Amino acid sequence: MTGKTHIMGGIASTVAISHFYTYEPVMFIIAGAIGGIIPDICHGGSKIGRKFPLISRVVNTIFGHRTFTHSLLFLVLMNLVLSLFINNQSIITGLLVGMVSHFVLDAATKKGIKLLYPLQFTIRFPLSIKTGGQMETLILLALTLVTIYYGRLVVL
Ligand SMILES: [Zn+2]
Repeated sequence: MTGKTHIMGGIASTVAISHFYTYEPVMFIIAGAIGGIIPDICHGGSKIGRKFPLISRVVNTIFGHRTFTHSLLFLVLMNLVLSLFINNQSIITGLLVGMVSHFVLDAATKKGIKLLYPLQFTIRFPLSIKTGGQMETLILLALTLVTIYYGRLVVL
């Protein structure tokens, strides 16, 4: 999926969760948007890869694309690292939720993800789509609608 869809995925999932849990909504949703693009640090051409080219190159050289940074192991490690540096549960949970939304969206693409890394088993939904194709535009639209629907409930 493209960076735009991942940002929207992070926003939509945190906005929806804000409706059910009492996180600080602004922090939580911004963290969700950022978390939505963090896993693609493994890809130099991604939004976050272009921001941090050196880290991106190192991660890509060691792990390759869509392996470690798209895994449950990465989530667990990120949770540990973030908890050391950030003293705000809304931000930490928002970042993690954004990353999970990223995994779900990438699992809907043909390439799938290595969710169980270091096991080399590819996780992919039975119906997969092409990154940047028309189906992705529809998904982006659906995520926007979810954001508007739950966002309206969060604001009210
Ligand atoms: Zn990705």
